[in-house]
Amino acid sequence: MLDTTLPATADRPAIVLPGGKLLLNGELAEPRHAQGTIDAIDPATGERIMAFPACSAADVDVAVKAAQSCFESREWRAMRPLDRGRLLENLALLVEEKREELAALESLDSGKLLFVTRNVDLQFTIDGLRYFAGWASKINGEYVTHNPLMPEDAIYRAYTQRRPIGVIGGITPWNFPIGQAIQKIAPAIAFGCTVVLKPSEESSLTTMRLGELIAEAGFPAGAVNIVTGTGAEAGAALVDHPLVRKIAFTGSTATGQHILAASAKTMKRVTLELGGKSPTIVLADADLERAIPGAAAAIYSNSGQICTAGSRLLIEAPVYDAVMEGVAQIADSMKLGSPFASDTQVGPLISARQHERVSSLVEAGVREGARTVAGGQRPDKAGWYYRPTLLADVADDMTVMREEIFGPVVCATRIEDRAQIVKQANNTPYGLAASIWTTDLDSAHVLAERLDAGTVWLNTHNVLDLAMPFGGSKLSGLGREFGTEAVHAFTEPKAVCMRLEGVDRFG
Ligand code: NAD
Repeated sequence: MLDTTLPATADRPAIVLPGGKLLLNGELAEPRHAQGTIDAIDPATGERIMAFPACSAADVDVAVKAAQSCFESREWRAMRPLDRGRLLENLALLVEEKREELAALESLDSGKLLFVTRNVDLQFTIDGLRYFAGWASKINGEYVTHNPLMPEDAIYRAYTQRRPIGVIGGITPWNFPIGQAIQKIAPAIAFGCTVVLKPSEESSLTTMRLGELIAEAGFPAGAVNIVTGTGAEAGAALVDHPLVRKIAFTGSTATGQHILAASAKTMKRVTLELGGKSPTIVLADADLERAIPGAAAAIYSNSGQICTAGSRLLIEAPVYDAVMEGVAQIADSMKLGSPFASDTQVGPLISARQHERVSSLVEAGVREGARTVAGGQRPDKAGWYYRPTLLADVADDMTVMREEIFGPVVCATRIEDRAQIVKQANNTPYGLAASIWTTDLDSAHVLAERLDAGTVWLNTHNVLDLAMPFGGSKLSGLGREFGTEAVHAFTEPKAVCMRLEGVDRFG
């Protein structure tokens, strides 16, 4: 066993750490050309947990070549789809066995509440492996009715296949680390691709542990490789590598734009799951007993560090005061604390940098005229905590209203005229998600159709489902993952056409 254990403290249990090696070409090894190490920091205390390798472009090259060699190998090409599914099922069992351990490591490294990592992140990871294991044997092409240009003494028959794209470069963010790793690895393997995955340098530890489990699960050498490191070095090297045929990226819009431009050089396929500024829309006829806690959870869960967080709260005038009062009360009462304490409702932000970004955006909003109804400050405690914040009187052109904050901050708008709701909700460069809170079925569905959003939730928010296509419009991304869309994201169609001589051959 490679792992080492961090002893328990008053605030948390003992935690199994990754051994510090990376999964490269089927073996746990130290990258040969690493440019030093990166410190993993506990966001709840600011203390260093351990160091892990900062891979260079040369290390990425080794990983990509291993993935390419596996992709071209007879073993991989000949493997039955059912058996690729079995690899994912094997891994699901190992992850399930280590669920508590991995959940604790995720909470330590990312600051997410243990209740959430155990019941959401790890459940999603295990489900994702099983969901895509099932897909492996269900990828079909089409029979195509061929129309020859010139009638002749021949019959044409044509069909399509969905072929794996090749080596996938997966690049993930810090807010959903192990879940995102599986979101890239599981469909890639199910559909016959191989992968090099680079987790965020802010939260790499569970992906490294996952690499250790993949090494145990019986995957052919090179099918999955893990490289840790910075975006500027290891991430960029994956994007630039000519043997990587597709980048499956989740992260910020700025990085996504950069990746899209850089991918043009090698004509890589890309899927980009990016940022958002999603509206939570409370109509006058909403059931406020559900809508108020729903609107608060939409933004304050995971301290607002969810791409689909409901960060703009659009409230119809008749219920504006009641909703504001209710959300403010929830915000003020939420308990900040250790991710491991069972009564904690708000954990820390991921890093000092993110903390600084959230604070300065709120300060800028207040300077520009926004009013703080709840929160708006850092509590007096160690770690990168920020109080759940509710801002009122926020104009549409203020930075705090336009930019993704990625913290527990929601900007409220009072909607006087129902005819303005669609315009207000869509008045953002993003188009990731939205929720509508109403008791009127017609309003719910008619409004849902008009919103620029990859996902619209009715009387709920932030519900992920592996069977539903997930992604955004406008600056929120390109392409979709999950569900049947995943087939398109990880395969390409190939048309095969044949000419059969002699229509009259049998009379
Ligand atoms: P980020 O863009 O800073 O980093 C994401 C990943 O990209 C990291 O692994 C990073 O190392 C890498 N990276 C950075 N620069 C790179 C480059 N030049 N080339 C290649 N890779 C590079 O994002 P983040 O701060 O880690 O995550 C937060 C962002 O992710 C938010 O904007 C959030 O909305 C978004 N997000 C989106 C979804 C979604 O599904 N739409 C899900 C989670 C998070």
